[in-house]
Amino acid sequence: MSVQELVLRQRTEILNALCSSGSAEHLEQVLDILLAQGELIWEDYQNIQVPGRALYTNARQLLDLVYTKGLETCGLFLAALKQVLPEVHGGGLTFSGCCSNLEEKEEYQSTSTQTLLTQRPSLVSKLQCCIDGAVKVLVISGHFTSADCDEVRLPIHTPSQQARRLLDHVRSKGESAAKVVLQYIQQKQESGSPLSQAKWTPPKEVLKYQKKLSSSVSAQSCFLSTYGGTSHMSLDDIYTKGELELDHNCVDVHGPLGLEDILGTVGTVNEEADTVLVSGDAGGGKSTLLQRLHLLWARGSALQDFVLLFPFSCRRLNSETRELSVQELLFQHCCWPDREQEEIFQFILDHPHLILFTFDGLDELKQSFSDEHRLCCPTLRAPVHILLFNLIQGSLLKGVRKVVTSRPEAVGPVLKKHLRKEVLLKGFSPSGIDCFVRKHHRDPTVAAKVLESLQTNTALLGLCHSPVLCWIVSQCHKELLGCGEGSPQTITDVYLMILQHFFQHQTSPKSTRGLDWLQEHLKTVLHLGKLAFEGIGATGYIFSGPDLETCGVTEKDICMGFLIQSKNMSSTHSKCYEFLHVTMQCFFAALYIVLSNDTDRSTICRLFEPRNMKETGLSSTCFMACMSSTDKQERALEGEATASETPNLQITATFVSGLLSQRHQSLWLHCCPTAVMEKRVRQVSKCLSKGMQKHFKSIPQPVEGEKKSMHAMPGFIWLIKCIYEMQESRIAKCAMSKLEVDHLKLTYCNIGPVECTALAYVLQHLRNPVGLQLDNNSVGDVGVEQLLPCMYICNSLYLRNNNITDEGIRKLLAKGIQCDNFQKIALFNNKLTDACTQHFSHLLKTKQNFLSLRLGNNNITEEGAKQLAEGLKFNHSLQYLGLWGNKIGDAGTEALASALESSKSLVWLSLVGNGVGSAGACALANIIKNSTSLEELWLTDNCITRTGVECLIQALEHNTHVISVWLRNNDLSLEEVEEMTQRESRLTF
Ligand code: ADP
Repeated sequence: MSVQELVLRQRTEILNALCSSGSAEHLEQVLDILLAQGELIWEDYQNIQVPGRALYTNARQLLDLVYTKGLETCGLFLAALKQVLPEVHGGGLTFSGCCSNLEEKEEYQSTSTQTLLTQRPSLVSKLQCCIDGAVKVLVISGHFTSADCDEVRLPIHTPSQQARRLLDHVRSKGESAAKVVLQYIQQKQESGSPLSQAKWTPPKEVLKYQKKLSSSVSAQSCFLSTYGGTSHMSLDDIYTKGELELDHNCVDVHGPLGLEDILGTVGTVNEEADTVLVSGDAGGGKSTLLQRLHLLWARGSALQDFVLLFPFSCRRLNSETRELSVQELLFQHCCWPDREQEEIFQFILDHPHLILFTFDGLDELKQSFSDEHRLCCPTLRAPVHILLFNLIQGSLLKGVRKVVTSRPEAVGPVLKKHLRKEVLLKGFSPSGIDCFVRKHHRDPTVAAKVLESLQTNTALLGLCHSPVLCWIVSQCHKELLGCGEGSPQTITDVYLMILQHFFQHQTSPKSTRGLDWLQEHLKTVLHLGKLAFEGIGATGYIFSGPDLETCGVTEKDICMGFLIQSKNMSSTHSKCYEFLHVTMQCFFAALYIVLSNDTDRSTICRLFEPRNMKETGLSSTCFMACMSSTDKQERALEGEATASETPNLQITATFVSGLLSQRHQSLWLHCCPTAVMEKRVRQVSKCLSKGMQKHFKSIPQPVEGEKKSMHAMPGFIWLIKCIYEMQESRIAKCAMSKLEVDHLKLTYCNIGPVECTALAYVLQHLRNPVGLQLDNNSVGDVGVEQLLPCMYICNSLYLRNNNITDEGIRKLLAKGIQCDNFQKIALFNNKLTDACTQHFSHLLKTKQNFLSLRLGNNNITEEGAKQLAEGLKFNHSLQYLGLWGNKIGDAGTEALASALESSKSLVWLSLVGNGVGSAGACALANIIKNSTSLEELWLTDNCITRTGVECLIQALEHNTHVISVWLRNNDLSLEEVEEMTQRESRLTF
């Protein structure tokens, strides 16, 4: 019998010998030998050794391949097997005819990469006891990133598997990496002692510098800045985990992200790029998150792969007017080395992968990101923004990892091109809010009261999703708990609350009681307002002494606590100030616009149409004068607000709308003539109405037979938020009266709970029902709750990919059941489990006009399907049922099929990717037999065999309505597929 036949005949025994222990070690050893012998090429190896695939499947793949490669390979394979598993020889397996001797390949090959292959078995055994040392050497030589290290050292791997993963990684890094690892092994053998990783330390001077840098970083990051003006809250005491998500476009499926994932491998879209972007709204916690990373690094508790970390604030870089080299930038803006600057900088150049830069608030930089001006030389001087852009895109200091934070609006496609990945910071989850409030109030009874009052005011709870608002609400708990009916509803309410709170804390409590507190502090408000207003117009966030003077800001105004002293790493500048938070600056700018007599009559109109801002110049005097002439020219030429400015102008405009709300009229009574205020209110209402009209005009005429649909353009949600801030149904009604669409598409609009509140408020004023499409946002359970008031006007609700859980669904459906118009829902890719199906079941039983239920890609199992079936039995209207990508299985399918057997409405059913086998298919055949409505049945990606398809074919013989049954990727052979297609053309394989 030939060796080839031997392999074939003993297939089962060989498979068992290789795999029955459950360990992949034997198979991997055999593969090592075959690779070393040249019997397998690298591509073969990759086809066999598929990570995550069942061991038996890998082994079968190897046997198939060995067999097709012929006699010689089979001989070598048996010899390898004999070497790896000597005990099975004589234990039933025959090896006659196999190669008697596996020859050693020539020790050194022409290239190191080849040597890695030919010496693989011995390299694996040598490396397994010194993985850490080898990894370290590869890191130091710049061949391995921390991500590579993580992959090699996955704890689930045995030492020999780690050794193999290391060799595989080294191979992919090329010849010089292979050389490094071979040299390392050789050195280790020669010296008899491993090159222990512990022995490698950066040069002494670098270590000294590291110490200085980390103590400076630690000092800068241990307190939270918003508490600076009032009290010192240490970051450790207050830091609360925010919700981090991968960019929606990222295909990586991943659970909740942690801080360490920001620099980890997950979600990487461009391996070549070094920059990670963390994006999120103003007040969403970006700076705080970076601050946390800095502190953890400085303490040695995280990011320890980086020897040096350089933190930058774009806000501060704005005031750097000199041209600098990278070296000057690092040392002057972060930490000055006492000695050996050249040596330290050389270390940075030589070991870029050991260095981390962070840039906070790219949106606050005066210049928008561009990659036009290339700079590669680290010793050349250039304007700071040019250095920054070149660092981000990697033309300068390639390999240094960077984390950049920005608001999403300021991130254009040019920057996206240079990103390694994008992480979205979504603020606090409901449990995050809870945790923050408890940390903020050490007294548990106070914390409980605050939380209780939040639960009764869902609009406010929605706002607390944003950390900065959560902070204000917690800070003002006394005002909040004392305000009863008038509890804050809008962002403006919340900021007015903190305004009053600060004034009350700085002056005697008696004097600020009553409604005149604003009048009492009007001067301070106008001074700070002017400062804020001028700054917003000129991208100025840091104010010098002369800036303060120009706006009349006095020492007393500063003492109120809205301004804090600007932290400055280099401490060479004189005292500078900034607002507690950029949103606070926007609020003061809005107060100035509303209350000042000095602003131009057209300011409000120009604020709501930022496009014209640059041409006419919202801000005028001092800040423009401070800017260099090139800046001014650039800005004048642009003719359109830069992306970095627009968000702040939008926030300011939102506050202006809120401040001009009738609800606050009594506050302004003594501060500004009524006629002026009324005029301003009219101006804002007109701007909002006009803004909306512009959007409505963009709606294309529908193609015949299709619904009239509007896809929101940028700025739409902002206008909605402004209308909400005004809290005047007359304005909302007027703005929405002209909107006549059937479908409102608001996908990828960065909609969170705050936006949902505003949206629900405004949409209530629509005249006709709409389909509301909110796919790919961050609505979450809190947002769902905010949407309830507009449910009655929604005939369909699309909430795909929105982080919604069973709890959100419970509330949504409790309301939905009462809404006549509500007929369709799509919840693809949320966090739903069997716990929500009872609510759907109830909905189906109760609502006999419900048409479409899509629950794809959630976590619904057989149990959930059985619950749904209970509702389906009694429903006579459902036309579309989509359960793609759940885990319903045969039993679940049988339950659904039996409930739907006599349905006269079902048109479309999808059970794609649900582990449905032939039993399920046969049950579904009963629907086909009876149904006069079903047109499409989707069963792709299941495990249906011939038996199941036979049932479907038989059923189809009695049914002329069904158009197609999709059966791609089931357990059928090519022959079966061919034969069955011939018999029934409506089957699609
Ligand atoms: P951004 O940089 O996105 O504008 P910040 O990080 O400045 O937001 O956050 C604004 C304020 O919100 C902080 O000063 C702090 O009071 C609060 N805050 C933000 N994130 C957190 C957090 N993770 N834990 C505790 N408080 C936070």
